Amino acid sequence: MNLELPGTVLIVDDEPINIAVMTDILEERYEILFATDGARALELARTAQPDLILLDVMMPGMDGYEVCLKLKEERETVQIPVIFVTAMSDVDDEARGLELGAMDYITKPVSPPVVRARVRNQIELKHARDQLMRLAVTDGLTGLANRRHFDLVLEKEYPRLARNRGLLSMILFDVDHFKAFNDTYGHLAGDDCLRRIGGVVLQAITRAADLGARYGGEEFVCILPETGHEGALRIAERIRTGIHALEIPHAKSSVAKHVTASLGVVTVRCIAGRSPLHVVAQADEQLYSAKSSGRNRICAMRFDAP
Ligand code: GH3
Ligand code: MG
Ligand code: MG
Repeated sequence: MNLELPGTVLIVDDEPINIAVMTDILEERYEILFATDGARALELARTAQPDLILLDVMMPGMDGYEVCLKLKEERETVQIPVIFVTAMSDVDDEARGLELGAMDYITKPVSPPVVRARVRNQIELKHARDQLMRLAVTDGLTGLANRRHFDLVLEKEYPRLARNRGLLSMILFDVDHFKAFNDTYGHLAGDDCLRRIGGVVLQAITRAADLGARYGGEEFVCILPETGHEGALRIAERIRTGIHALEIPHAKSSVAKHVTASLGVVTVRCIAGRSPLHVVAQADEQLYSAKSSGRNRICAMRFDAP
């Protein structure tokens, strides 16, 4: 957590004077953004991803409730906590805001210590939630996505691509003679080797939509949405040569003096209604071919006819 700038707060209020008051209270500790209407608030929430939104209830046009509802409907903004700021200290209104997904309430006129405390609480909770979410999708050893996240992404990406009969490439690879590596150099050296291979994967994939994951043990996988066969082969070759270039000694390998890997690559055209598991099965077949035909190589197949 960054102690100097522990978060960004978006203040939404149609009265500039109220924004000025809140800014005075919070600017020493937080980065401040503001909006004087609901539409601008939604746009800023999406693009700037603040850690907290202080939302005035009474605004002309779109009121605070409507803004909150819209924030909670959008995937990009649903996780941003909202505190309602309202002149009405009516219990019913408070309940309504909380039901819409707001985390807390502050009543006007505001008390600076109360504002600071409530804001700090919500931002700390937000940071803790973010950290948990990151841990839930990350492989602890390599920092790549974990198997569960890979499964979820594939399950979502495949039908999305299938809507336009889009292309999906997958690279599945496995470290060669890794059992012998562990037996020779020890498990800690093995872990370190896997960590460095994770780094090679991260360097090899370039697009934001690409995903590199640890599939399990010493197996890795990349999902490359909207990537054609030639592009996928280029990335696979980058991974193969990248691992070789680490020059991690492997005296017991029958393939090379250094640690190597075998890779299976497939490109498919996504078909609505089909399970994406067949892509993994096909990549696995290619990986098996790469192993049985000598290791430290890429075997590939394309199923991408229009
Ligand atoms: P092949 O070339 O056919 O892939 O042979 P291999 O020895 O790599 O394959 P095998 O499946 O027989 O052995 C995989 C080894 O990977 C066994 C296991 O000890 C090691 N391994 C799996 N996960 C980890 C890990 O997280 N850390 C370490 N250090 N080793 C691991
Ligand atoms: Mg292996
Ligand atoms: Mg294996």
